[in-house]
Amino acid sequence: MERLAFDTPENGQLTKVADDLYWARFSLPFRLNHINLYIIDTPDGWVLVDSGINADSTAQQWQALLSGPLAGQPVSRIIITHHHIDHIGYAGPLSQLTGAPIFMSEEEVTKARWLLERDDNLFADLVADTYAANGLDEAHCALARSDKGRFSRHVAPLPEVQTLTAGDIIKSRHGSFEIRLDKGHSHAHIGLVDKARGLYIAVDFLLPRISPNISVDMRDLNDDMLGAYLTYLAEASDMDEGWHIFPGHDWPFCKGASRAKALLAHHEDRLNALREAAAQQPITVTDAMGVLFGKVFEAHELYFATGEARAHLTHLVTRGDMTIQPKSALNAPDYFALSQP
Ligand SMILES: [Zn+2]
Repeated sequence: MERLAFDTPENGQLTKVADDLYWARFSLPFRLNHINLYIIDTPDGWVLVDSGINADSTAQQWQALLSGPLAGQPVSRIIITHHHIDHIGYAGPLSQLTGAPIFMSEEEVTKARWLLERDDNLFADLVADTYAANGLDEAHCALARSDKGRFSRHVAPLPEVQTLTAGDIIKSRHGSFEIRLDKGHSHAHIGLVDKARGLYIAVDFLLPRISPNISVDMRDLNDDMLGAYLTYLAEASDMDEGWHIFPGHDWPFCKGASRAKALLAHHEDRLNALREAAAQQPITVTDAMGVLFGKVFEAHELYFATGEARAHLTHLVTRGDMTIQPKSALNAPDYFALSQP
């Protein structure tokens, strides 16, 4: 991985990162305190890639961009890469503000609508029940039960959405970006690739500094999301090192194949640590969190940390390295044991 020499854009400004591609940075109220958004210049107008979280600061910055650097032409499309709050949150208001339609992959819009339609109480209960299955103590489950609307709080209502599928083309002023859909960080995350020019808007699948969160869906704890991500990383390991990669957080970079290999090694290392822990005695997801992260999290991070720990254990089960022990009681947590050789 090598950082590209672009200036980080200030609030309300854009940095040009290719002939027809611009980078904006919006603030987030989390420890990961910003998100990168991208804007493609096309013959039909601006194509906005992602919207930011639903917050006043996001509204103000879009106003500044639309009346400033983006004022010269209309917005033709809003592409939302995946359903996570920092990407989709402001999509509805942004569509209203610009008159542009929203585009997503079918799976991601279904996921977003499911989350938006959940009653806040029922959703909080679902999180709490998942925590209990993960072996978290009652205090953490109670915290989850009282944390109502963790999705709807940050995501505005979603109007009609049109769908994009893998292979669709976005023609820009100087090239064309092909849509790809990848599973791992989410189920059908949109990436945009201009192979001829070596430009790849990877968003949350390839980040230069942090390891993208790989979490299981609470509705399907046994879906092997990490396996899917490792397959993606193996493919990305063949990428031309000269490609310019545009991530959802931190800064544009090149040498993406090296970054993919480093992330593969990171996950293999984490999987080995879990095998070693389970060789002592069967472990819960909470035990796995201790092995993987070695610390206690606040509510927002706990949600991702448990999801990621479960994704590693689910992958070990899918590989045949571990088994889930039958529950001893109805509300007992899941225990993962090393399979006998
Ligand atoms: Zn994400």
